[in-house]
Amino acid sequence: MSETFRAIVATETDGTVTGRLTTLSDTDLPKGDVVVDVAYSSLNYKDGLSVTGRGRVARRFPMVCGVDLVGSVRQSDSPEFKEGQSVLVTGYGLSETHPGGFTQRQRLRSEWLVALPSGLSPVQAMAIGTAGFTSMLCVMALEDVGIGPDGPGGSEILVTGAAGGVGSVAVAILAHLGYTVAASSGRPETYDYLRSLGAKSIVARSELSGGPSRPLDTQRWRGAIDTVGSATLASVLSQISYGGAVAACGLAGGNDLPASVLPFILRAIKLVGVESVQTPMAQRLLAWERLSGDLPLESLEAMTTIEPLGRVPELAADILAGRTRGRVVIDVNA
Ligand code: NDP
Repeated sequence: MSETFRAIVATETDGTVTGRLTTLSDTDLPKGDVVVDVAYSSLNYKDGLSVTGRGRVARRFPMVCGVDLVGSVRQSDSPEFKEGQSVLVTGYGLSETHPGGFTQRQRLRSEWLVALPSGLSPVQAMAIGTAGFTSMLCVMALEDVGIGPDGPGGSEILVTGAAGGVGSVAVAILAHLGYTVAASSGRPETYDYLRSLGAKSIVARSELSGGPSRPLDTQRWRGAIDTVGSATLASVLSQISYGGAVAACGLAGGNDLPASVLPFILRAIKLVGVESVQTPMAQRLLAWERLSGDLPLESLEAMTTIEPLGRVPELAADILAGRTRGRVVIDVNA
């Protein structure tokens, strides 16, 4: 007999998309070669968009929301994964083209699965989730263009949207690796929190969100991780020191880029795009290995709250409104 389980499912009625807690059964599971009993998922900005319907995330309806999941293999037709094994998935079109992680059970393609890294519990893996995975990709992107911890003059690395999920993990990793970190946030009540994660200095969001005061501003940052985009990213670009770089991954402030080419052609700075959904598996495994060593678990715990599946619609509105601090793990069985 087909068993039932709970999930957050987005449906479309008269052009309006809404995500709600729903009961599904095994007959609703999509195609794939591995069934996973999901233990936890996590809340990301994209989940806010898909559950509230404020962004066109799902390509078809009904669609189980949630870009991440961790759990144990219930049934496997793949020689790579055995029943009972702990696995995680981030990205790969979950909640867009394939039903996602806000569910107690999911069927997936084995080539998307990552064995839970040793040293991380299922909760810790989802406390990292897509957001933290993206933070690590950003750090690796800076390293790839020569921005290491020991830079000239001890100049700082800036993280924008720092109190959010990507930002918080980025601050903690950079500080652990020995970078001098400046954290930009629009919420003064998070400044102590950001210092506790390792930020040495704080930059008010308003210093950056109005756009550059001139195309080549004072050179303040050797590198930056930007989760905000738009005028904030344009300001950051104008303040990067000669030869520095920005890893850009987000659009919390908008998806435009009202910037000048002058920092690129007169200061030889670099802008590196970071994408977490289709990251090739080799890079994925490397990032997860790095995460299990370069992110202090006490910092991860300090930035994480755990919430039940039923609260996802409310939490989705919170993350879009910029009210979420750090990372939110979703306990799908609570
Ligand atoms: P969060 O909502 O947790 O963090 C975003 C942070 O941005 C907020 O906490 C806030 O930080 C800041 N912010 C929010 N609104 C504005 C605004 N209007 N102007 C300036 N700053 C603002 O989201 P995530 O950390 O999960 O994601 C951050 C961004 O990264 C999102 O745009 C998301 O889509 C993107 N992303 C991209 C990925 C990729 O593959 N490229 C993967 C994952 C995320 P504070 O309060 O500190 O100012």
